Amino acid sequence: MEKLVVLGGGESGIGAALLAQRNQWDVLVSDAGKLSQSAITILDQHNISWEQGSHTFEEILKAKLIVKSPGIPNHVPIIKAIELAQIPILSEIEFASNYTNATLIGITGSNGKTTTAMLTYHLLKEGGIDAGLAGNIGTSFAKALIEDQHEVYILEISSFQLEHIKKFHPHIAVITNLTPDHLDRYNNSFEAYCATKFKLLKNQTNNDHFIYDADDSVIGLGIAKHEVKAKQHPYTNANTNPMFAINNPSLRGRHNAKNAMAAATIAQLFQLSDHDIQASLQTFQGAAHRLEHVVNILKVEYINDSKATNVNATFFALDSMAKSTVWIVGGVDKGNDYSSLLPLVHEKVKAIVCLGVDNQKLIDVFSPVVDVLIETQKMETAVKAAYGLASKGDAVLLSPACASFDLFTNYEDRGNQFKEAVRKL
Ligand code: ADP
Repeated sequence: MEKLVVLGGGESGIGAALLAQRNQWDVLVSDAGKLSQSAITILDQHNISWEQGSHTFEEILKAKLIVKSPGIPNHVPIIKAIELAQIPILSEIEFASNYTNATLIGITGSNGKTTTAMLTYHLLKEGGIDAGLAGNIGTSFAKALIEDQHEVYILEISSFQLEHIKKFHPHIAVITNLTPDHLDRYNNSFEAYCATKFKLLKNQTNNDHFIYDADDSVIGLGIAKHEVKAKQHPYTNANTNPMFAINNPSLRGRHNAKNAMAAATIAQLFQLSDHDIQASLQTFQGAAHRLEHVVNILKVEYINDSKATNVNATFFALDSMAKSTVWIVGGVDKGNDYSSLLPLVHEKVKAIVCLGVDNQKLIDVFSPVVDVLIETQKMETAVKAAYGLASKGDAVLLSPACASFDLFTNYEDRGNQFKEAVRKL
């Protein structure tokens, strides 16, 4: 048996280890941090070797193949040593794709991946297609392949998963949009980040399909630069006649109209009728933490958009607001440029509640355009303050434009705390 080392024992690492073992690899999972108890239980149940707390270079360098978890940065010593030893490194998505003949739909982009992937899944399932949903969205692709075999897989793919792409070949590729995010991982180079996203198309042929937002000039530049062989399906909402009429509160906002166009284009490639697509668009239930309607209290609507961890996502949240808004914003600033928000804030926001450990930049940028701006470090206080500031007919919107790690475990924790505080009002 040949040796395969999985670096990192999170969701995708454990999935890769199980799939590798099933396919006759001698597997070692090596994690420099701590494995979760559930990961250890699964590995022990399957007699898979593991180590935690450090990497044993000598063992790892015996491998024929390395599967690297997306969270591990490329500059760490173990990766350098593996590269020096010329051992191939694959991402979990590519490794898994070697063990299926299913039709693969790869969805990437800075924002809108999850919504587009979930909506595509919904449209295809409703259309009677045997589809599975995997990747960044929850269940890793490797684990999904172990659990079930579907004819089609919809894969949400992050830029981190694309970094090591060699032969991964989606039949349908989608780029929802490209806007600065995760630049800390790419030496602050937006170009390097975009080039990574375009790796999704690298192995496509002219029998494949590429679906993208034609209104996104960064994608346009990428197409000109990278050799795109797949058939192109641009979508735009510049048309006065939209492709589909969307009257579903789970898909509000211009950005969701775009996500719907991407998903509908995929459904059309599967020969689903426009009539059926239109009907299924109406029954889609949105994902939590993305412009999620929470509740109305005294005619004030509370909206949870905790997943807005960058400026572009918040731009579309504010853009979609039809009511005067009390906006809760803040967290870990990833080098944000807030200038694109200023006109929207001026037009729609009546008060700002800053919720972060360090709110100074927000105060400096936004105090000239809003009359009321307060700051706090607690969700409960933020929600109570927003409640006091909002009047009948207004909305309270949590759309942070920042990562959550200063005050919360993750964006879900932030969104859940928001909902809990609102329900306690
Ligand atoms: P991702 O999986 O790429 O993070 P999500 O569907 O989870 O995308 O949405 C993340 C955030 O971005 C949410 O706040 C959502 O409202 C917003 N968003 C969703 N689709 C788009 C889009 N096409 N363009 C800009 N922002 C979007």
